[in-house]
Amino acid sequence: MKYLFILSILTTFVFAKINVAVSIIPQKTFVEKIGGNKVNVVAIVKPGDSPHTYEPKPSDMIQISKTEVYFPIKIDFENVWLDKFANQNKNMKFSEMTDGINFLTMKKHTHHNHKDEHNHVGEKSHIIKIKPDPHTWISPLNVKIMAKNIYYTLSKIDPTNQSYYKKNYKNFLDEINTTDNKIRELLFEIENNSKFMVFHPAWGYFARDYALVQLKVEAEGKEPKPKELIKIIEKAKKENIKAIFTQKEFSTKSAQTIADSLNIKVLKETPLAQNWSENLIKMANAIANSNLEN
Ligand code: ZN
Repeated sequence: MKYLFILSILTTFVFAKINVAVSIIPQKTFVEKIGGNKVNVVAIVKPGDSPHTYEPKPSDMIQISKTEVYFPIKIDFENVWLDKFANQNKNMKFSEMTDGINFLTMKKHTHHNHKDEHNHVGEKSHIIKIKPDPHTWISPLNVKIMAKNIYYTLSKIDPTNQSYYKKNYKNFLDEINTTDNKIRELLFEIENNSKFMVFHPAWGYFARDYALVQLKVEAEGKEPKPKELIKIIEKAKKENIKAIFTQKEFSTKSAQTIADSLNIKVLKETPLAQNWSENLIKMANAIANSNLEN
């Protein structure tokens, strides 16, 4: 009996997996590709939730308290929550997954109504702030850098299994290259700078990598106002847009309005799918089809 007990402690120790936490589901896919059966990965933002506004639940905090390493990805909810996570688990290491990535920028518009002392609305000021585009994982080029960061971090935490991680890292690089080649094949026939319209601008790096232009419907994470909507519809008409991509993480009534008034399709494509490779190929296929239709 005593012997069995010691044996079970030993096996738990020898076969213990590294507990990893990440922000979004595609990151979980990346860490599992390299960590294989040596890691146990939890994504904090659950399917259907937006990583821009997510508020972790008590169950997420319990996961954090069991985590050895957290891979942030510079997505909005982390600005508020990483400090809280660090407080929850003082032993947890942080390893930034986007280290070495060249960030694109996004324009962030804010409107401010000035009021005078009688509370009359006066001039409106329009402020444009530039912020880094956080949707980095949607680019095979960027994911190669992420893969390298994951490989280094896991090898540092668990040097005994370095050769295992290295083999998986190499295999994942092959998969990324295959994905990239398939996307290029699919987009081969469409012209450079072909445009696609998305509700939420999550595909900026994809557009950069494949010489496409992303047009967005959403303004600051919100449905556009009627006036803005008219402008967007006019733009879509002028650009001869054939499809609008929306995602389940957001309410997309305005995308439907545009689509209805132009008699074009609304396609659901999330940038947060678990099967990262298949998802990007699906998006490339949809863009190619909507641009070739006439
Ligand atoms: Zn987003």
